[in-house]
Amino acid sequence: MDKSSQVNEVYKLLKKIYPKAITFLDYKSPFQLLIAVVLSAQTTDAQVNKVSPVLFEKYPDPKALMESKIEDVEKIIRSTGFYKVKAKNITGAAKKLYLDYNSEVPIDMDDLITLPGVGRKSANVVRAHCFNESAIIVDTHFSRVTKRIGLTNSVKPEVIERDLLLITNKTIQTDFSMIINTHGRKICMARKPLCGECVLSSICVFYN
Ligand code: SF4
Repeated sequence: MDKSSQVNEVYKLLKKIYPKAITFLDYKSPFQLLIAVVLSAQTTDAQVNKVSPVLFEKYPDPKALMESKIEDVEKIIRSTGFYKVKAKNITGAAKKLYLDYNSEVPIDMDDLITLPGVGRKSANVVRAHCFNESAIIVDTHFSRVTKRIGLTNSVKPEVIERDLLLITNKTIQTDFSMIINTHGRKICMARKPLCGECVLSSICVFYN
């Protein structure tokens, strides 16, 4: 089976058990999703969802967040870890949005990755979920699962993204990213993957 066919097969099998792709971060606008994704580095989405309502209640837009006292922001986001760096990044991103983009989140990858704390993964999340752009979203779960099932040999996110873009139909890229992510969280965990319960076991390189 070539790799494109393998992607289609994996998608078909996983779609049956995850019919609706789930977004794990809570948000009400591109600005909120952008900030939430930056906060989600090195922590769980559930943890971010606990602090983000407080943060957005107090700072509802880029201008408000830009003008915040950084100590106040640090206090709110402290439980997400690396809070000093994250506070600097999100206030910096808010400032750039306000000054350079009229408080709107830009759609272009080249613009998004100039915002402090925003890498390709975060940019792809925003592009996919807020602007309906097709995207391969490479996070830790996606990297692990795609490598195990033999869709890439790389551990470098940018190479994995490129590999998967080449073999995944544009119409399913975002959904494929989401269901692989979900499978990584629920079945193909880092330490003890539940291979005995996995619908991909017959075609998984790691398992066979
Ligand atoms: S068979 Fe095991 S390693 Fe392969 S995708 Fe399933 S859970 Fe992951």
